[in-house]
Amino acid sequence: MPNPPFADAAGRRAVRAGRLLDVESGAALPDRTLLTAEGRVEAVLGPDDGLPDGTPVLDLGGLTVLPGLIDTHSHLVGEVQTAGVPATTTSPAQEALIGVRNARATLEAGFTTTRDLGAFRAFVDLALRDAIDAGDVEGPRMQAAGAYITAPWGGGDVVGLAHDIRLPGDLRFGVVTTPEEVRERVRRLLIGGADVIKCIATGAVLTRGGVPGAPELSEEELRAAVDEAAHYDRFVAAHAHGAEGAKRAIRAGVRSVEHGSLLDDEAIAMLADTGTFLSADLYDGEWALEHGAAEGWPADTMRKLAYTMDTGVEVVRKAVARGVRITYGTDSGVYPHALVARQLAWFVRCGMSPLAAIRSATTVAAECLGWADRVGSLALGRFADLVAVEGDPLADVTLLERPVVVVKGGRVALDRR
Ligand SMILES: [Zn+2]
Repeated sequence: MPNPPFADAAGRRAVRAGRLLDVESGAALPDRTLLTAEGRVEAVLGPDDGLPDGTPVLDLGGLTVLPGLIDTHSHLVGEVQTAGVPATTTSPAQEALIGVRNARATLEAGFTTTRDLGAFRAFVDLALRDAIDAGDVEGPRMQAAGAYITAPWGGGDVVGLAHDIRLPGDLRFGVVTTPEEVRERVRRLLIGGADVIKCIATGAVLTRGGVPGAPELSEEELRAAVDEAAHYDRFVAAHAHGAEGAKRAIRAGVRSVEHGSLLDDEAIAMLADTGTFLSADLYDGEWALEHGAAEGWPADTMRKLAYTMDTGVEVVRKAVARGVRITYGTDSGVYPHALVARQLAWFVRCGMSPLAAIRSATTVAAECLGWADRVGSLALGRFADLVAVEGDPLADVTLLERPVVVVKGGRVALDRR
């Protein structure tokens, strides 16, 4: 039986790279050939090494090849942010099928892995992940959270409808009021197949009336989530704009702080000292400020966007200087998924070298996911996930906004030549 069209390739293949960018050392190695088997890197051959007879070769001789990119904060399911209340005018089936389109756009943008941090319709993201893994749908490898663990009326609740409207259970699956409820909901998510837990530690920019600086979950509740997830060998990602909420999350032991747009110097120092990742999004703010008003987003949301954008850029600048582990989280879904590489240039503007920006979306992101043994580099045994671009991305990181070829698991997902 032939392989399903988008699954990992069986058998042996070779990818010839004009230059292979080793993201760990920063070296651009000329004329290298990746030998892949069962969709993974089996060997990296030099210019004089011979190939086993009959190996099919994908010749990317004129291009620079680097590992497939990783977004550590995506929302692949459902429409891009609208003026309405999320997921209240679409069924779970519609959310999933829109996700099929978003998953393909993400992969074709060179992102072969994402950590998908929450869907308003619980578990729909896990269905998308499973369909991709089965080879039925084209998309990145996904870690998915299943739902948001949130306080009632918090940044992960469905807010903006009249107070007497009763919502179905799947729209409020992660709403919790006590540490015991946190544990119960985390267990249900993880036993239900979630890869990671997403906690909403502070208010959110896009939630009607939400206050981004306000802490919402208690430190005890965040600790309950981290502790329960650890029993299943899983991490917690904490949405936190405000400094107090972020500090609670860091002290509770979360893997990453998402957004972090209002962090103070103490919170940035805590990130650096503990090694907690900062999954910082900036391009989504630029896109939203440009398009939100025309899309009819409320004035209060636009005001919150403007100030968290300004403060967020300052936080990332300080975090870069302080040596915080900054991972490439973009909040895709706030903006159209095809534009997911545009944040690389923002990281360079905030003081990263192009190589550091590329590492944020490869080696650092893989470490944040706990997947350093499978993605984020093209070392032996890793998945043969790669993106090929024209020119030198270490000189101009925006070249990664225009991938020429994308390969996932040894199979071609995009070829624009
Ligand atoms: Zn998000």
